[in-house]
Amino acid sequence: MKLIKQLDIVSLLLWCILLFNLIENISSYYPCLDSIEGPVIYPNDTQFPPLIIDQNIRVNYTPSVLVYAINNNDVKKAVICAIKSGTDIVPRSGGHSYEKYGLGGRNNTIVLDVSFINVVTVDSERGTVRIGAGNRLGDVYNKLSQAGFLIPAGSCPSVGVGGHALGGGFGYFSRKYGLACDNIVSMEMVDSKGNLLNISNSNRHRKLFFALRGAGGGSYGIVTYFEFSIHRKPQKVTYMSFEFDRTVKAQVQQLFYAFNKVGPSLSNDIGLKLRLRKDLLSITGVYLGPPRQAKKAMRRFLCDAPKPINPIGTQYIQKTFIESVETLSNSSKYDVFSPKHNPNFFKVKSFYINKGKALNETAINVLVDYLDKAKCTTLASFDLYGGVINDVYYDKTSFIHRNALYCLQLEANWKYKERDDQCVKEINDFGKEFQSNFTSPFSYQGFIDRELDNWQVRYYGNIFGKLIDIKKEYDSCNLFRFPQSIPVMI
Ligand SMILES: Cc1cc2nc3c(=O)[nH]c(=O)nc-3n(C[C@H](O)[C@H](O)[C@H](O)COP(=O)(O)OP(=O)(O)OC[C@H]3O[C@@H](n4cnc5c(N)ncnc54)[C@H](O)[C@@H]3O)c2cc1C
Repeated sequence: MKLIKQLDIVSLLLWCILLFNLIENISSYYPCLDSIEGPVIYPNDTQFPPLIIDQNIRVNYTPSVLVYAINNNDVKKAVICAIKSGTDIVPRSGGHSYEKYGLGGRNNTIVLDVSFINVVTVDSERGTVRIGAGNRLGDVYNKLSQAGFLIPAGSCPSVGVGGHALGGGFGYFSRKYGLACDNIVSMEMVDSKGNLLNISNSNRHRKLFFALRGAGGGSYGIVTYFEFSIHRKPQKVTYMSFEFDRTVKAQVQQLFYAFNKVGPSLSNDIGLKLRLRKDLLSITGVYLGPPRQAKKAMRRFLCDAPKPINPIGTQYIQKTFIESVETLSNSSKYDVFSPKHNPNFFKVKSFYINKGKALNETAINVLVDYLDKAKCTTLASFDLYGGVINDVYYDKTSFIHRNALYCLQLEANWKYKERDDQCVKEINDFGKEFQSNFTSPFSYQGFIDRELDNWQVRYYGNIFGKLIDIKKEYDSCNLFRFPQSIPVMI
């Protein structure tokens, strides 16, 4: 009798869950999406769960529906459907937002995924390429390289060009050719009324062009195509790697001494990243030319740096451009040609260290101490800025970080969900203290960080007001929003 009662309760519960799911699915069915040509996937579809995993599995959101647009018309229809149904709509390209803003940073949105808008069409006469916003960087590098060209962008092949270029887009070739956003010539974007706009510096959308190049991810509309300037890829590239003895604290200080002193005056043909972890002290980089010239260009730096570990501590390896993309991203050829997510638990803080204000000895000691004692494994990566990045006038793009010596990315990684709170708190507490004591007040919006205080100023400085004005002009009802988007009012 008791057992029968228990079974009754269980089946009642199951029935309730089923009914709840049914109601949820019915309430989130959008007839206005029926004429979309690309796939439209609802939560009750078995394909749905893996499609919302994305890169950072620390944060999770469930959209009401995933719309995979295949052309501008699909995007227009989805935006109009969002307006009519009163549902929020969020663009997603590569799903690599550190805070999962490709899913809007909240539940129950229409996620408009542009992965199937993925053409790469080179116009070598004009020196430009038309790139669908859904391409991954690996595909872009690969297809452009086959035509003999490159655009400067980040090192991870699975990052989407959409979110990347709209937030800045830094990579090993940026000191030579600028950021990805600096190389945008024009864009196609579906706005908050469902209109398709052609945006460039020479038409009436000049202000929007400014806003999109640095502050464009998720705030103004859905960019479907980019036109970028292209650069001839170098015939020979040198991959460089130097490893130092991390156990000797003086070596850390000496390496920073060289990085701070010689870094700013290094040739623009050099891209460098300094990595510091509990068990690692290294420099990796690239030289746009053969090893003989690379050695010459690095001489002054290495003269001031500590001696690399022998014999494997120094490497100058000649590569083709595309091979260097593989090595710099620690990927295989397969990863570059067929980029995939590598979902994991992580939290990132970022800090700009400006020219003339390099980290001092105390700051480096504080950082080393933190990395040694942190309960969650943390890596500090310093990307050397300067070169062409800093030549771009402050008022040309909404990427304001034009005076940086380097950008520090502090990344904590862990393996189990249960550690989320501890690891996030640890890095947040340290980051706040470190930024107020040792670095500029600015951070990189491309490494978006939900708990960053005063992010409006840290990401956009004194152009934040201007970005709001542009937002009001193009999206006065704030259709395109996420927790750190450009608002319509302060
Ligand atoms: C493993 C890894 C490596 C990285 N390496 C680098 C690096 O080397 N250099 C660097 O600068 N950054 C790097 N990043 C940061 C990366 O550039 C940003 O996270 C970027 O926003 C990711 O773009 P996405 O399209 O992949 O992400 P998504 O999550 O799809 O989008 C990110 C944001 O942009 C918006 N967005 C996406 N597509 C569009 C669109 N078509 N129109 C309008 N808004 C859109 C989204 O709504 C969201 O707010 C890296 C990130 C990861 C996870």
